[in-house]
Amino acid sequence: MTTPVVKPFLPNISSYMKYVSRAFDKGYLTNRGPLLQELEVRLAEYLGVKNVICVANCTLGLQVLYKALNLKGKVITTPFSYVATRSSLEWEGITPVFADIEAHSWNIDPRNVLLSSWKDVSAVLGVHVYGNPCDLVELNRIAQKKNVPVIYDAAHAFGVKYQGKSILSFGTASVLSFHATKLFHTGEGGSIVTDDDELSEVIRELISFGTVDGANQDRLGINAKMSELHAAMGLSVLDELPSILSKRRVVFEEYHERLGSSFIMQKIEDATTYNYSYCPILFQTEAKLLECVSALESISVYPRRYFYPSLERFSSQSLVDCKIADKISKRILCLPIFPSLSIDSVHKISNVVSRYS
Ligand SMILES: *Cc1c(COP(=O)(O)O)cnc(C)c1O
Repeated sequence: MTTPVVKPFLPNISSYMKYVSRAFDKGYLTNRGPLLQELEVRLAEYLGVKNVICVANCTLGLQVLYKALNLKGKVITTPFSYVATRSSLEWEGITPVFADIEAHSWNIDPRNVLLSSWKDVSAVLGVHVYGNPCDLVELNRIAQKKNVPVIYDAAHAFGVKYQGKSILSFGTASVLSFHATKLFHTGEGGSIVTDDDELSEVIRELISFGTVDGANQDRLGINAKMSELHAAMGLSVLDELPSILSKRRVVFEEYHERLGSSFIMQKIEDATTYNYSYCPILFQTEAKLLECVSALESISVYPRRYFYPSLERFSSQSLVDCKIADKISKRILCLPIFPSLSIDSVHKISNVVSRYS
């Protein structure tokens, strides 16, 4: 049996079919149907936020958000993230300016944001890497001082709280990913979250071809809607969320128990209520990491080098050297974590990994 790094969570099939049959009964498959509306209401309640706008995926959600905020020129962001953080900007003709990360949280370092070249910068885009909150307060302060919005790629941050408050309520808006491999999912999907009602209306218009109630408006739009069938998946996954979280927590804590004293783990502050979405560990050298990967692969365990290489490396025109991101991305490995992973497997994996500390 092979063990991948992540495995899509499959909800109870009859529960899923019950939601799907509601779509069949109504003959309504998309265009903000009843299932989607129910999902948005339940998510807003669960997450403790005001506006949840479900979209086709996180990448499109980010692009729609840039358009809604009229971002242009440059955006300061982190080099230590998934490629979509970068490509979503470039697809919209925006140049990413990379600010190096903090050595302990692995998130964008506000000091480097401040030190960046601010010419033509229209926003700051943070990423809560592996669900660990960015320095929310400091980023907000800098953005206010520079009079630009701060927004978040919150693809990993479903359900995370900071000082008891949803981290999605910090900044102008955040975008979640509901891809099949994420903690909470709809197969493919995502959502834009914002406390700003006006922005929320603009986003709703943009994701539906720039129309309101089917009528054309002046705004240029796109199709980034989520269908009823995806919403049905989301509703049935949401029903099982407490058990998903508790199973992940057990896996996460077991890895930390077994490996926490010999490897550097991501520093998560006490004020954070974490979601156990990933289990990254840092090796002393890239060589040790590579040896460990081969050893794991020989027992059919497939960890992933998230995120490697560092995003500033993709560009020949990158002007900023991100030394910490570069160093960390070469030495970081995400261990398998998903609700159905057995403790026995966690022990086997930990035994192999511990030989490479
Ligand atoms: C998964 C991921 C995305 C992309 O999400 P999609 O829903 O697949 O578009 C973007 N950013 C980060 C950090 C991710 O991990």
